[in-house]
Amino acid sequence: MKKHPLAKLDQRHLWHPFTQMRDWLKGEPLVIERGKGAQLWDVRGREYIDANSSIWSNLHGHNHPKINAAIQGQLGRVAHTSALGLANEPASLLGRELVRLANPRAGVTQQQPRLAKVFYSDNGSTAVEVALKLAYEFARRTGRARKPRFLSLDGAYHGDTVGAVSAGHIDLFHKAYSGMLFKTDKVMSPYCYRCPFNKAKPERGDARDTRKCNFECVDKVEQRFATRKKRGSNYAALLVEPGMQGPAGMIAQPKGWLGRVAQIAQGHGTQLIADEVMTGLGRAACRHFASHDEGVQPDFLCLAKGLTGGYLPMAATLTTQEVFDAFLGDYSELKTFFHGHSYTGNQLGSAASLASIGLLKTAASRRKKLAANLHTEAKRLWSLSQVGDIRQAGCVLAVELVRDWRTREPFKLAEQAGIRVCDGLAKRGVLTRSVGNVIVIMPPFCTTQQQVKKIFSALHNSIEESLNKP
Ligand SMILES: *Cc1c(COP(=O)(O)O)cnc(C)c1O
Repeated sequence: MKKHPLAKLDQRHLWHPFTQMRDWLKGEPLVIERGKGAQLWDVRGREYIDANSSIWSNLHGHNHPKINAAIQGQLGRVAHTSALGLANEPASLLGRELVRLANPRAGVTQQQPRLAKVFYSDNGSTAVEVALKLAYEFARRTGRARKPRFLSLDGAYHGDTVGAVSAGHIDLFHKAYSGMLFKTDKVMSPYCYRCPFNKAKPERGDARDTRKCNFECVDKVEQRFATRKKRGSNYAALLVEPGMQGPAGMIAQPKGWLGRVAQIAQGHGTQLIADEVMTGLGRAACRHFASHDEGVQPDFLCLAKGLTGGYLPMAATLTTQEVFDAFLGDYSELKTFFHGHSYTGNQLGSAASLASIGLLKTAASRRKKLAANLHTEAKRLWSLSQVGDIRQAGCVLAVELVRDWRTREPFKLAEQAGIRVCDGLAKRGVLTRSVGNVIVIMPPFCTTQQQVKKIFSALHNSIEESLNKP
């Protein structure tokens, strides 16, 4: 078959993110033409299930009439005006909705901070970048730390801008850009399946359920704070993804971890930054935010990916009145938060977000059903020797591939086990991307039981085909 002209154009002119372009130029890329619900079609008319919600951003399905109408309605008035010096209707309404959603009456105690202010930006990296800058300045201005430093988790990814990369701990990036980065500290993440303190043998079940340990990972956090204190300093903020570390490999936290860790941070007067770019807005939680599942209210809440329902690039960083007040003063004091983007508070994005949050409010039973279907259908994978761990948080399910489940021996990165399985999935009409050896399944909330069945049957067959020795 001749290469599609749009595939040719792409290969001639574009440079794709996180992609070895030499490999990209070898094949013929899928060119997506349209979508509806959990389904996508390419220019050749082939049909796919969007099993990773277009890199974890789509919540309610593609081409949703309510989100479409909201964007179209706003488009008929004005698409964008600057938030530098101007207010606008959808951004203000969205601010109210986000503050309401982030401060539920149940599950969060009075003593915990209230998220009262919303700072908009464009993507997850900038949402984190804003939180870092604010927390840094807040710590300095309130005398909590003279040279504020951040603590975050091993393997964490919080975005690609320089601050977000600094605050993350991916060796590959730190090697490449070390000269550009500032120093941050890291502490072990609660990765039960590969925990050096977990004495449980591998079993055919989520490693969190069979773990034999004493929460040594929490002790490690405590020790980090103690060490910092001994040196006469304190962390400006602890940056974590509540519930599940997504880009680190869908590392789902054991129940109770976040609550304990948040208490340690609060006890030291350290701000808690919750990166809920992936987990938030109902994705990897029972409530709307994974923090709240653990009864934790952070000082900063970073949202992006699913904010607009996955339709437009928009992000928000929520924070407290206390942080806001630290930036108040006479103009001449120069206490202003000197940060912002051209598209801050974009009207189309705000309108889409309002519609998406409206849908989210009535999606509870749909989300519950999807989570249950994912749980049920994934069980069939336990019969495969290359499935080491299956872990789930809300509507996110991850399958960690290993050479043999009895040894937990990982595939080498160069073997591209995850990539091969995903290629096999695409051939079977299911689209997703792996994180290393971890296959990510997180379709939109509207995905039907039939579609979930199809995803896991394709995954089962693809693992068998791609990883079994001939
Ligand atoms: C995707 C992601 C980011 C970065 O968001 P972008 O919109 O890609 O910049 C940050 N943190 C987490 C947890 C993410 O999943």
